[in-house]
Amino acid sequence: MQPEINIGTLGHVDNGKSTIVQALTGVWTARHSEELRRGITIRIGYADASFYECPSCEPPFNYSTSKICPNCKSEAKFLRSVSFVDCPGHHSLMVTMLSGAAIMDGSLFVISANVKCPQAQDREHMLAAQMVGLRKMVVVQNKIDVVDRARAKVNYQEIREFTKDTVAGDAPVIPVSAQHKLNMDVLIAAIQEKIPTPKRDSSVAPRMSILRSFDVNKPGTEVEDLLGGVVGGSVVQGIFKRGEEIEIKPGIKVGESNRVTYERLVANVETLKAGDGEVKQATPGGLVAVGTDLDPSITKSDGLVGNVLGRSGTLPDILEKVSLDVDLFERAVGTEQLVPVQKIKMNEPLVLNAGTAVTSGLVVSAREDIADVQLKKPVCADSGSKVALSRRIGESWRLIGFGTIR
Ligand code: GDP
Ligand code: MG
Repeated sequence: MQPEINIGTLGHVDNGKSTIVQALTGVWTARHSEELRRGITIRIGYADASFYECPSCEPPFNYSTSKICPNCKSEAKFLRSVSFVDCPGHHSLMVTMLSGAAIMDGSLFVISANVKCPQAQDREHMLAAQMVGLRKMVVVQNKIDVVDRARAKVNYQEIREFTKDTVAGDAPVIPVSAQHKLNMDVLIAAIQEKIPTPKRDSSVAPRMSILRSFDVNKPGTEVEDLLGGVVGGSVVQGIFKRGEEIEIKPGIKVGESNRVTYERLVANVETLKAGDGEVKQATPGGLVAVGTDLDPSITKSDGLVGNVLGRSGTLPDILEKVSLDVDLFERAVGTEQLVPVQKIKMNEPLVLNAGTAVTSGLVVSAREDIADVQLKKPVCADSGSKVALSRRIGESWRLIGFGTIR
């Protein structure tokens, strides 16, 4: 069954995001070496769970991820299927996380009980969540097994104090130990209450951000037996149907080095996979794989990651230059000396994340809070959508703020 909602994990590396997802779903999303090697490429992990409610047990003990109630062994009632969107933990964590923001309907903001709250990173992550408009949140106080009761309570108050005046102001704070699967029923209860499945508008043109793309054929397959290229991602809006004509933008590079342009791809949806099987139509929630009639050499090895997929003729124009309303942080994210963020300057290079696309660009105009950036590789994005902005500080690209496409 296709999950009906995506719930993201936010919070500093090592606070236990992946362990919480594993405790709820049984799936370990992190895949190591490859992600690290890829630097700032998006590599989001999905893991699905179904929530059930026991008819006999008292709340919150009635919530679980099991068809048979773990407490009383009664048959439990199915509530909904949920997909957790987990981001890998490395230096570009926050950029990655925010690139997934468009597909997150809600989030778990994970804090670690064994350090004082807020840490600089807690503040950064909360601020970023606010800037990209992540609202429906449950705050998780993890690792309560490593602190004593008194410290857990003090830390709980610290978290309340910290979240009070943020987007998580009315979010519940749930103490858990992900490693010991402690309080998972209370966490599910909070998710059920605070992160309901949003009403979807099924009449809008469907759109998907491409997070993966592959060639599914075994080497040596006869030409007539070859399957078309497959792309994977999350449906941002609308409904994709088997058999319909789609377009992919910006598409593929054409032309020679001095005059490179991008050309959209047009294809047919041959197969759709969502949840754990074939579906006739795919909607928002979880990871969806679209089998197309594209030449698999185009889709192999994540060749189309960062592209946008939509019903043919409905995607916005591709932009070679973006004009941005800029929102800068006070301090660059992840810098040890908390480097203050200077205004954006003419001619400076920036890295932009727009949806799942990563591109670099050069600032060609910088006014008070507006910057025009000439992109090395165009993006397909609506006006009003958010892009993450990173600047080179020392050896690495650091997140310095956000832009909203004008
Ligand atoms: P992430 O970077 O936020 O995804 O964090 P991970 O889930 O990878 O966890 C980081 C480390 O903390 C791992 O060594 C986990 O085993 C450990 N950890 C996670 N949750 C808990 C917990 O509830 N209690 C304890 N003691 N350790 C935990
Ligand atoms: Mg992790």
